[in-house]
Amino acid sequence: MKIAVIGTGYVGLVTGIGFAEKGNQVICVDNNQVKLDVLRSGKSPIWEKGLDELIVKNSDSGNIVFTDDLQYAVEESEIIFLCLPTPPREDGSADLSYVITVSKEIARHIKEYRIIVNKSTVPVGSTEIVRNHLLEYNKDCNFDVVSNPEFLKEGNAVLDFMEPERVVIGTSSNQARQKLVELYLPFVQNENQILLMDEKSSELTKYAANSFLATKITFINQIADLCELNNADVELVAKGIGLDSRIGSKFLKAGIGYGGSCFPKDVSALINYSDGIGYDFSILKEVQAENTRRKIKPIHKLVELYGDDFSSLKFGVWGLAFKPETDDVREAPSAYIIRELMDKKAKSVLAFDPVAMDSFREFANLEDEYKSRIDFVSSQYEVLDDIDVLIICTEWDEFRNADRAILADKLKGKVVFDGRNIWRPEEMLELGIKYYSVGR
Ligand code: NAD
Repeated sequence: MKIAVIGTGYVGLVTGIGFAEKGNQVICVDNNQVKLDVLRSGKSPIWEKGLDELIVKNSDSGNIVFTDDLQYAVEESEIIFLCLPTPPREDGSADLSYVITVSKEIARHIKEYRIIVNKSTVPVGSTEIVRNHLLEYNKDCNFDVVSNPEFLKEGNAVLDFMEPERVVIGTSSNQARQKLVELYLPFVQNENQILLMDEKSSELTKYAANSFLATKITFINQIADLCELNNADVELVAKGIGLDSRIGSKFLKAGIGYGGSCFPKDVSALINYSDGIGYDFSILKEVQAENTRRKIKPIHKLVELYGDDFSSLKFGVWGLAFKPETDDVREAPSAYIIRELMDKKAKSVLAFDPVAMDSFREFANLEDEYKSRIDFVSSQYEVLDDIDVLIICTEWDEFRNADRAILADKLKGKVVFDGRNIWRPEEMLELGIKYYSVGR
């Protein structure tokens, strides 16, 4: 099929590559020239396993092209995927302006039947909003708008897209439904994995999924608090409940809270949407509040130990990305922790992340003034030079498997705050390290 993908970020690029891999003709559109130049040189602008090779392979075969020419993409493609940002507004609602702006522009170029598929995460009713905008700008255009939320996980995005657990297609149009089922069939083992529903249920499915996972993380984090108060071990409790198939073991890792570009904004958007229609989604409000408190949990322990003034202390931070295997730093706990350290006058902050240091400099929600005071170093062990306290914010494997001899030798202050429970307390005790983790 001939497909256009508008927006080549984490979702759009993987979507475009995934469809191209299955032999479709894909035109990826973006308005960011720097990104387009990187893509045309055969590289991925984001750090995601396997993407570079697939960009080269599919560009060489001619299955994918990268352009800023939206008109060309709309004229050439029967299906147009919107993979545009829907960032949070001040009030927590999802900002639909990218989706609406592009929809209006698409409307100007539609000459024959087109299927416009919204893959961006959007509130209930957005399919209708897009449809109305298209009609407003071209009342004669022949089209369907479909909701097709994306469930890929950064860090495993390509595999998630190529082998999805389920595909949700929300539309009341038979023509659009048939086309999309045909497009997605090569991706699933079984046709039952393609879930057909109305537009609103589809839109809500995405928010429900992310909000549920955020709630699950928050639940185990509060169990971790109970464990700390009772000298119990949250890792054991998580295992004990996770093996119950009704509960499941995933998303039961206690830590310093969830971050990323999706959970925080999707939780606030669902709260905001619910408030807007007169429903108080109280459980989610508490999830949101608890997660915000959570991100700076190590700071509370530090204050207990050292008081409110850190001016005599040098800190090291391992991990800036919001989770391992990605360079995404949006809403990462690391930024919240570093701000607190600096507000409490930390003498210095050294930081290292295997892939996310450049993106942290550019995108982390930390004021430039704070960023400029961080010493970014080129190896995890360099962080340990002459620091008093090490804080672990991301559970990268290279941190988990760090050389213990170097750690014990270099870490002058011998204090570690492990926000991701990557090490065993007994082992740290043997190394003579004062080790604080979560819920143990
Ligand atoms: P992103 O910011 O990484 O990518 C968006 C892209 O759109 C950027 O490359 C940007 O340059 C481009 N863009 C913006 N305005 C444009 C325009 N007018 N014309 C052409 N291109 C334009 O965002 P993302 O993480 O890929 O997320 C996109 C959507 O998918 C969001 O709604 C998000 O909630 C949802 N989503 C994200 C993930 C994830 O893991 N990142 C997973 C599922 C769903």
